[in-house]
Amino acid sequence: MERFAGRTVLITGGAGGQGSSHLQAYLDEGADVVIGDIRDQLGASLVAGHDRAHYVHLDVTDEGDWAAAVEAAESLFGPISVLVNNAGIGSPPVLIEDGALDDWQHIIAVNLTGTYLGIRAAVPSMKRAGGGSIVNIASMAANTGIAHLAPYVASKWGVRGLTRTAALELGRLGVRVNSIHPGVVETPFITEPLRPGLAPVSDYFSPDPFAIKRLAQPRDITELLLFLTSEAASFITGSEFVADGGLLLGPAVPADAA
Ligand code: NAD
Repeated sequence: MERFAGRTVLITGGAGGQGSSHLQAYLDEGADVVIGDIRDQLGASLVAGHDRAHYVHLDVTDEGDWAAAVEAAESLFGPISVLVNNAGIGSPPVLIEDGALDDWQHIIAVNLTGTYLGIRAAVPSMKRAGGGSIVNIASMAANTGIAHLAPYVASKWGVRGLTRTAALELGRLGVRVNSIHPGVVETPFITEPLRPGLAPVSDYFSPDPFAIKRLAQPRDITELLLFLTSEAASFITGSEFVADGGLLLGPAVPADAA
């Protein structure tokens, strides 16, 4: 199926576990895709040999990078009709009272301000495209509190508010804005240590107590993203989509429990 033939898609954090899955899926669906990231070598290698894919250096905290990314996307492939604000970083686990202000500011800058800057940069191009669809990748952390992860949780709650507000402002322009809230997805985000000396999340998180006893795979999130940015979702805006295998429900009751 080629649901996105002739459409220009911009994905941030495109060199990452989920971003690279999204890239491949949009290419398979006929789109022209620009990925942005700060890992230039890896990002460039993912688009090598693809006519309909391009890599740009895009630090989402940098307004100049955003302007250049949108310009590159538009001049190569035409105005942007899909923006996926996917770039994100985790928090080192620490109590609020012990956390470093620099960490707080950097995590908010990437996860929240980066999303804000992306919407600002892409909307003029989407207007030229005659409308579009923005998906902000939040987290199940935006639906709860998580001890020791205050900057991450706060940044993702911020993304929720930004999503709803942008949906209100942009609906009449034909731009839909929604958020996806993944549970624990098997990517370097959880399989690699955030910093040297820290244990990766996958060392201590187990999906066993939950309704669906497995980690999410990037493709689980990609499928939802494709739907939300397709014509099939043309009536959906300002909405939040949790894909967490039942994590937010809490522990599942075993089938053999009396
Ligand atoms: P990942 O670490 O594999 O990918 C994240 C990508 O973002 C990396 O390629 C990284 O280089 C890039 N990035 C970091 N800082 C950047 C910046 N300033 N500018 C541009 N790019 C930057 O992780 P992932 O699982 O693919 O994460 C994608 C999104 O999903 C993130 O927003 C993350 O918060 C969210 N998320 C992940 C999980 C999970 O368990 N993996 C769960 C919920 C939400």
